[in-house]
Parts: sequence; C-alpha cells; structure tokens
Amino acid sequence: VAGQRRNPQTDLGEEDYALRPRTLADMVGQREVYERIKIAVDAALMRSEPLGHVLLDGPPGLGKTTFATCIPRDLGVPLQIASGAALAAPKDLLPYLTNAEEGSVLFIDEIHRLPKAVEEFMYPAMEDFRIDITLGEGLSARTVNMNLRPFTMIGATTRSGLLSAPLRDRFPIREHLDFYSSDELQEIVRRNATKLRLPIDDDAAAKIACTSRGTPRIVNNRLRWVRDYATSRASGTATLPVTIEALKMLGVDDRGLDPQDRKYLTTLMRVFDGGPAGIEAIAHTINAALDTLTDEVEPFLLRSELVVRTPRGRKLTPLGYKHLGAPPPDKNPE
Ligand code: ATP
Repeated sequence: VAGQRRNPQTDLGEEDYALRPRTLADMVGQREVYERIKIAVDAALMRSEPLGHVLLDGPPGLGKTTFATCIPRDLGVPLQIASGAALAAPKDLLPYLTNAEEGSVLFIDEIHRLPKAVEEFMYPAMEDFRIDITLGEGLSARTVNMNLRPFTMIGATTRSGLLSAPLRDRFPIREHLDFYSSDELQEIVRRNATKLRLPIDDDAAAKIACTSRGTPRIVNNRLRWVRDYATSRASGTATLPVTIEALKMLGVDDRGLDPQDRKYLTTLMRVFDGGPAGIEAIAHTINAALDTLTDEVEPFLLRSELVVRTPRGRKLTPLGYKHLGAPPPDKNPE
C-alpha cells in the first residue's frame, strides 16, 4: 500500500484497518467507557452468557466501530455487520437474526436510520430472542413465532436523539463517546507512526494531536498525509517543520479546523451577520449536505465554543469572531 496517493480527509483504505485497535486493551482513551464495557465483557465471559445489548453514540470517527469490532474479539465470538440505512424492511434483517450464533454480536451502524417497521420487528428479537414472521397475505395470512439464539446487538449512532425511547430502552448498556484529549491523541499518533514505520519527532506528534479536532480518525488521516509529505518532500522523517508544512497544505489551521469548518464559520459571519441562522440555510449557502454539517462539522465547533445553537438557529460566539480575526459583534461598525 505504501506509496499510493490518498485523500487524507476521506480515505478509509487498508491502512485504516491496519491502524484500528484489535482488542479493547489496545484502545487509547475513553477510559470510563472502556472500564464499564470491560467489566460487562468480563462478567459475560465468566458467566458464559451473552453480553447485554450495547448502544454507542457520539460524533463520527471517535471509535464506535472500533468498540463494536473489539468487543466480539475479546468475547471470542463471531461478528456480523449491518447498516441501518440498508435495512429497508424486516426481511432484510431476518438473515442476520437467523444466522446469529449463540452469544455472537450483530453490529448495526447508523441505527437511527432504521425504518419504524424494522425497529418494531427488532423489539422481541432483542428482548426475548424471538421474532414474529407473517406468512401469506390477506385472509390466509398467519403469524409464525420463531426462536433465535441469544445474541448481542451493538448499535451505533451519531444521533441518539433520533432514536425512539422503546428502542433506546432495549439497550441495557448505553455509552456516549466524547472527543479525545490531546495527550490521548498523541499516544495514538505515536503508536500508529510505529505501525506505519514513520520516524516522528515528539513535537511533530504533538502538533498532529492538537490539530486533529479531538478525533482519532482525523489523527490517522493526517498522520498518513504527513508521512506521504515527508516521503515525497523531505527525508522521510516527520519533523516539526515538515509536519507544519504538510498540515498547511491541507488548509488546517492552529485549532485543527479545515477549509470546510472555516467556510461554515465565515459564511455564518459574513452572509448571516453572525446569526442566528438556520442550519438548512447555511448548508444551502455553502453547498454542503445537511448531515455532513450536523454530524461532522458542527459537533467540534460547538464543543470548541466557536458556535452556539439557539432556538432561532446557529450563532457565532465572540470566540468564533476572534478565531476568524474579526471584531466581536458589539464592536462591529454597523
Ligand atoms: P463512524 O461513526 O464514522 O463510523 P466511528 O465512531 O465508528 O465513526 P471508528 O471507525 O471506530 O469511528 O474510528 C476511526 C478510526 O480511528 C479507527 O480506524 C481507529 O484506527 C481509530 N480509533 C478510534 N478509536 C480509537 C481508540 N480509542 N484508540 C486508537 N485508535 C482509535
């Protein structure tokens, strides 16, 4: 794979697989979530019982899929992966449920995108490990009851607020993943630089960590880009000056914001006078998908207090103005 050109922002290739932790113990950060999940996993192993269903929520790239792949590995059970967006009707879920071996894990990504009918079909499967299948139509229709082998459902979502209460309640283990600290990200940079066989200086590792928006996936993408840059334009070592140049070429600023993040902020400031502005209006103006803004761009801007959400829409904060190098609103000449 080495030498292939990659899009550092979006690529999820073979190397992503190579960098993904294999077991829960390999995971960095999220200590409280890790501890609770580890206890539940150990208890399930000791009792030889399936682990309770697990719901993971949080912004993209923070490790939901990583948890979902490490948990079955630690349990020593098979994993099936499905996506909420692809399960249009109960019949699409049926093969996953009937194939699920005793104690195995069924991971459903983007679980908030399940249609209502599929969600309702899942309730008895999750609660009592049984499903009701309707055979035939009209007067000759009859319902057949089928028992399933006890399994563990792991659901992942970037929008837990969209999940219905009955679905949420069927997950005894619910965990929220938050952004990582710079120290944690630096540890991920160091480990992954070793995996990528990239010599990296400590200050360069710190630079990547503190400009990766608290997100391991962004760390990995930027680290791969810095490696490409160091190979192509320097001696192959990621020194601080090489790293700064490489990040500059991506348009990454001191806070780690990329051009799309800044476009959101400058549009809010210039076009909407700092807001409040509706998210749809911002999305139309910068020609971005609404989901991209709400799921990927906004969580870090909100968390960094550059933007706030008000009942009337998004508003740039004084810190947001400062980041854009503009005077705050009350000092703005009208
Ligand atoms: P999405 O919602 O977009 O699917 P996600 O939350 O499932 O995102 P992952 O795919 O699990 O995110 O994580 C992205 C990458 O970040 C992984 O391939 C892995 O290499 C790295 N990563 C995530 N969490 C950790 C962690 N705790 N320690 C080390 N690396 C991690």
